[in-house]
Amino acid sequence: MLGQMMKMPLLISSLIDHAEKYHGATEIVSVETTGGITRTNWSTVAERSRKLASALSKRGIKQGDCCGTIAWNNHRHLEIYFGVSGGGVICHTINPRLSPEQLAYVINHADDQILFLEKTFLPFAIKLKDHLAGVKAVVLMGSRDEEAAEQLPGLLFYEELIDEGEDDYQWPQLDEDSASSLCFTSGTTGNPKGVLYSHRSTLLHSFSAALPDSMNLSARDSVLPVVPMFHVNAWGSPYAAAMVGAKLVMPGPGLDGSSLLTLIDQECVTIALGVPTIWQGLLTAIKASGSKIESLQRSVVGGAACPESMMEAFREYGVDTMHAWGMTEMSPLGTVNNLLEKHSKLSDQEKNKVRLSQGRPPFGCELRIVDESGNLLPNDGKTQGDLQCRGHWILNDYFKTDIQALTDGWFSTGDVATINEDGYMDIRDRTKDIIKSGGEWISTVELENIAVAHPGLAGAAVIAAKHQKWDERPLLIAVKAEDADPSVEELLAFYEGKIPKWQVPDDVVFVESLPLGATGKVLKSKLREAHADHLL
Ligand code: ADP
Repeated sequence: MLGQMMKMPLLISSLIDHAEKYHGATEIVSVETTGGITRTNWSTVAERSRKLASALSKRGIKQGDCCGTIAWNNHRHLEIYFGVSGGGVICHTINPRLSPEQLAYVINHADDQILFLEKTFLPFAIKLKDHLAGVKAVVLMGSRDEEAAEQLPGLLFYEELIDEGEDDYQWPQLDEDSASSLCFTSGTTGNPKGVLYSHRSTLLHSFSAALPDSMNLSARDSVLPVVPMFHVNAWGSPYAAAMVGAKLVMPGPGLDGSSLLTLIDQECVTIALGVPTIWQGLLTAIKASGSKIESLQRSVVGGAACPESMMEAFREYGVDTMHAWGMTEMSPLGTVNNLLEKHSKLSDQEKNKVRLSQGRPPFGCELRIVDESGNLLPNDGKTQGDLQCRGHWILNDYFKTDIQALTDGWFSTGDVATINEDGYMDIRDRTKDIIKSGGEWISTVELENIAVAHPGLAGAAVIAAKHQKWDERPLLIAVKAEDADPSVEELLAFYEGKIPKWQVPDDVVFVESLPLGATGKVLKSKLREAHADHLL
């Protein structure tokens, strides 16, 4: 017998409808690409999203087509999120830091019909226009700009496009399994792979992301997504913010510490989301300014391991760091670290230890670890294995490829991890980065976390260097802090007592800076190319 309840499709348009109806006056603060701040609200964002959907439909964009964006976090990008997906069109967010070849590849592979872009990226469009045969129109995200119009004939302007839309446009009633948005992995090796999210997966992910043991989002929050809207949909925060009616503070292009600090203080930000490299900049700016960042309660740190020293630095300002883990293929949320009731009686120091891992999966996402032959490994907090997951917002297939994404219904994440009895997962490394020294595994993540706590270093990465006897040994690649000059001996001695002796790096190579990939993560493949033979 079937239940007798209503069945309404889980659609992205229903999120913005809800935000408009019940949180219409809640502010959306947006830093403009050309400078200055625009203040709008959920009601206006909803109205303009519908007009955008209407205008695209009048210009012949059909349901199931793709539209690309090359844009920062701002209110127009937010309207595109809801207007494009709400109208049944796929919102393809593009990482501007991809190489020109990769940019052309993802745009053509997605078959983007319209390209929305910031003025900053106009030179890309001009340079690539002959290689983008499928793109019918490029839309500059702003008002009419004669100088830009002269540079790219046929260029459209966002504000004029919105004006073409009808006021009484109604969202289409789509199948909840329809595609809603498309993100590509960062593509450190080979061409980026596409992940095609659905309305249903996006809504279920939003419910989960907002839960108290996830990001704990509510209508009383002022949310600052520093993580870009082109990086796994800003970790789903725009959708989750609409769901709970939170205020959104969109930082635009200025992601340096002092710009972020000003926004946090002025807009009373309560929760901010970003990768560790961003928070390093913010913490330095806070120190220099003397601000107490009084409004900030929580920082969500993910994308790369959060060092203990960073959690401690945040804690000094009363900010609770929630360590989170996930990836493009997972929409991205896989785990968030929060304490259980049984931890309440622990000392602060013991609690801090629990907080270091990447955390536990929320309902809707399951994790397990397996060995090389696919055998299940125990959740004992010690045994390491390949981390696999499955759930409501995990991919089933990659976009337009025949690459097999699943094994036995599980997705292999490419991460090596342990899981303890309570389900807390600890990323030891990426499969391709972990060091195999004489048959034993050494986690580069752990060695890096120790190194960055040394006051003489501004950055550190550990790679597997080839070794005659042990096959591979850890090599520390270090960037000196300003006005500091630590010696190799001093840095290696810093590891004493913190890890077993045989795991201490064999040597240190000093570099001016670490090579970063398109999402701000250290490109270890580049470091291996340059330094893998260092110990031979
Ligand atoms: P890419 O795989 O192309 O780098 P993603 O942005 O999807 O793109 O990154 C996912 C990977 O980032 C994860 O598989 C994991 O290795 C790493 N990662 C994400 N969050 C964390 C974290 N909190 N700690 C350690 N590694 C993390």
